Amino acid sequence: MPPYAHFLLAAVLTGLPAFAQPHQVSDAEVARVQRSAILIDTHNDVTSFTVDGLDIGPRRATGHTDLQRLREGGVGATFFAAFVDKKYVKTNQSAHRTLEMIDTIRHDIVDRYPGQVRLALTARDIETAHRQHKFAALIGIEGGHAIEDSLRLLRDYYALGVRYMTLTHGNTNNWADSSGDIDDPTVTHHNGLSPFGRDVVREMNRLGMMVDISHVADKTFWDVLAVSTAPPFASHSSCRAVSDIPRNMTDEMIVALAKKGGVVDVNFGCEFVSQKSADAGMPWMHRIMAAPGDEERNALMEQYRKEIVRAHLDDAVAHIDHIVKIAGIGAVGIGSDFDGVECTPIGLDDVSKYPNLTRALLERGYSARDIRLIYGGNVLRVMRAVEAESARLRAAK
Ligand SMILES: [Zn+2]
Repeated sequence: MPPYAHFLLAAVLTGLPAFAQPHQVSDAEVARVQRSAILIDTHNDVTSFTVDGLDIGPRRATGHTDLQRLREGGVGATFFAAFVDKKYVKTNQSAHRTLEMIDTIRHDIVDRYPGQVRLALTARDIETAHRQHKFAALIGIEGGHAIEDSLRLLRDYYALGVRYMTLTHGNTNNWADSSGDIDDPTVTHHNGLSPFGRDVVREMNRLGMMVDISHVADKTFWDVLAVSTAPPFASHSSCRAVSDIPRNMTDEMIVALAKKGGVVDVNFGCEFVSQKSADAGMPWMHRIMAAPGDEERNALMEQYRKEIVRAHLDDAVAHIDHIVKIAGIGAVGIGSDFDGVECTPIGLDDVSKYPNLTRALLERGYSARDIRLIYGGNVLRVMRAVEAESARLRAAK
């Protein structure tokens, strides 16, 4: 029996690349592979702080994101979240808040640092920024209530540079069910997407706005898969088979999304990657989400912070392994949720720590080409497919 037979068999069974054995990786190799990739992170919430005045430039002692640490981490592009909390629905200010969040990306991140950052609207823009040694900033709306049930607002947001929309946040809106309140009998549900919700997806296809299925209820996901003519994607979700929470995706969903050409961008939040963290943290999450006001929510957050069970970098890698195993190397990407989650894994603490992930992947036998696909190649493929489908639909009109 050849000396590596057991490892090769194990590699086949786990779906890991079967051509390499676990090995020590030099700093130079980590740096070389990292430099050869365009690392695209499809979900970052630092905008929830920049909108209140945070300067993203200098290194800060807290939080997960600033320009200095993005450089250290070798991050090439980030989709910043124009996140709209459900509280704005009550006061009819969802569109107002969306415009403020778009402005903080354009004004406080892009325009404030023109020498370092450029706004990207297409896959090609990301590649151009990378060649110019600039960081590419992109805009994704989180929470479909942002459009206030108007396709006209959806088109306005596209014109302002929005290139994906997460159809729901933790709240079901007037046209799509969310995983966050699907078991709440006081909420009016639609059994997935309503007829208008289907129109929203079709108009996103026509515009060339990526359809993001993170946060949606399972039935909404299946409806999107049936309606969308471009590949949808998950901007920040992980695998339920590894950490069983409603925000993560079942194997069946991951395989179906991959068959449609989509990608699952792994969320690094502790509860998303580790069952232990989820078991300890989810009861807190439910209480925090149900808090009637900001004051109650902040008090609960304070208590939760003391009881956090942290995950480890290896837990995040396990999700990448799992997606590759069931759906192939083309189905996985990075959607960290940095600055949107309270707890990040040890070793993957913030945006500067990506070289640790590169090392871990190389040590597990992933090739430089595999890592380039995981880090950005797969997302660029989805963006190009969405752009091409938009061009086709616009030409057909
Ligand atoms: Zn989210």
